[in-house]
Amino acid sequence: MNDLRMPGDQMEEACGVFGIYDPTRKLHVADSAYYALYALQHRGQESAGIAVADGQNVRHYRGKGLAAEVFDEDILATLTGHIAIGHVRYSTFGGSDPINAQPLVARYKGGTLALAHNGNLTNTGSLRARLEDVGAIFQTNVDTEVILNLLARMCRGAGMEEAVPRMMRAVRGSYALVLMSEGRLVGIRDPYGIRPLCLGRLGQGYALASESCAFDAIGAEFVRDVYPGEVLIIDEDGLHSLRVPTPLESRLCVFEFVYFARTDSVIDGVGVYAARKAAGQRLAMGDQVRADMVIGVPDSALPAAIGYAEQSGIPYGEGLAKNRYVGRTFIQPEQGMRENSVRTKLNALTRNVHGKRIVMVDDSIVRGTTSRKIVDMLRLAGAREVHMRISSPTVMYPCHLGIDTPSTDELIGSGRNVEEICTYIGADSLRFLSQCDLLRTVEGSGCGFCTGCFNGKYPMDIADTDEGLDLDL
Ligand code: AMP
Repeated sequence: MNDLRMPGDQMEEACGVFGIYDPTRKLHVADSAYYALYALQHRGQESAGIAVADGQNVRHYRGKGLAAEVFDEDILATLTGHIAIGHVRYSTFGGSDPINAQPLVARYKGGTLALAHNGNLTNTGSLRARLEDVGAIFQTNVDTEVILNLLARMCRGAGMEEAVPRMMRAVRGSYALVLMSEGRLVGIRDPYGIRPLCLGRLGQGYALASESCAFDAIGAEFVRDVYPGEVLIIDEDGLHSLRVPTPLESRLCVFEFVYFARTDSVIDGVGVYAARKAAGQRLAMGDQVRADMVIGVPDSALPAAIGYAEQSGIPYGEGLAKNRYVGRTFIQPEQGMRENSVRTKLNALTRNVHGKRIVMVDDSIVRGTTSRKIVDMLRLAGAREVHMRISSPTVMYPCHLGIDTPSTDELIGSGRNVEEICTYIGADSLRFLSQCDLLRTVEGSGCGFCTGCFNGKYPMDIADTDEGLDLDL
């Protein structure tokens, strides 16, 4: 979901979505959604929301902050029904306005729709202009509302089965959606499958989630990933699948494996932990560095550090302690705050690193803020040498498809070579994993990958134009 900002200053977002349908009407589905959002919390800490439907009515509650801050038992008790959808939102500057919290809920001629979105549309401006031309009113500044408006219009006189594929023909970009009406739950994955979405089974009912770790949290069984271009409709008749035409090769975001997803999730057939560990192993291959200890930057780089240590034979140890009560560093909107938050979040284990030559493995360098601070931290703690190893290629381009990577001029890897980046972060040496090696770590998936942040090649035209827009409002 993308805030509608000026071109060039967009800070993209990745979020977490969840949905559940309980035909037995025995479960308190809002509780299940709450626990699932808890498990997906790493995908967004800005706001959380749940909407429930009972066949007649749709109720919802949303708020700023973590799921545990937004909901309590009393609030959850008011959310009764047999279908629920939920959302956790990840955003940066300008995005903290609670009006942008999801699920978005709208009443239209045919009833009520609630929608939760993970991803980012690239033709939002064109779509919004066309909708405004025919009198649509927008109350938020997120692209999800464009989808909601399109659906409300397309559902007039047509069923979901017709409306959803029509909406999918009009929008461009990435989207994993959970949609709910009074009596139906719908899961939708964009034709390239850029953002993850999977299907689970809970008793006689079904669940949908951005990541499989949400199913584990509520005792649901993972069934399969939603296919790129697939629409899953779940109602009292069970589960129906529709497929819209998809490109020849899907393009799952590889950064889900690098950083974003939780290590215990399995996405499109690949375990996130295994992929990260393999990335660390590959990073160590052919690396001649001499060092006393390999450490990882907690938490997302720890599997890669373990892999690096195993492959290189250099002992693995802990060199940084993490304060677990601080959110992900990038959610701080301004650079000053971001630098402070690195210190709040990480501290060197002086007695472990003092006098040692350290290989420090991190999963990525984006702005360079964290890396520079922690290299400095290790030196202040007495590390003799600090060799930085990154288990992904250099991030050189912004993401337009749902991950928060900043504009090109904020990316330390854009327009600088490895030596220059190394000098900036103050390390003794620096090495990145090649794109080819990164793709080998996710080979088992059988799908294609979007590597746009590394090479600027996005699966689709990212320019927001009207060209080829298939839209009859
Ligand atoms: P920096 O050195 O400031 O570029 O920060 C690198 C750190 O940010 C790494 O530890 C990554 O785990 C983390 N990171 C990478 N991508 C993102 C993102 N989209 N949002 C938040 N943190 C990220």
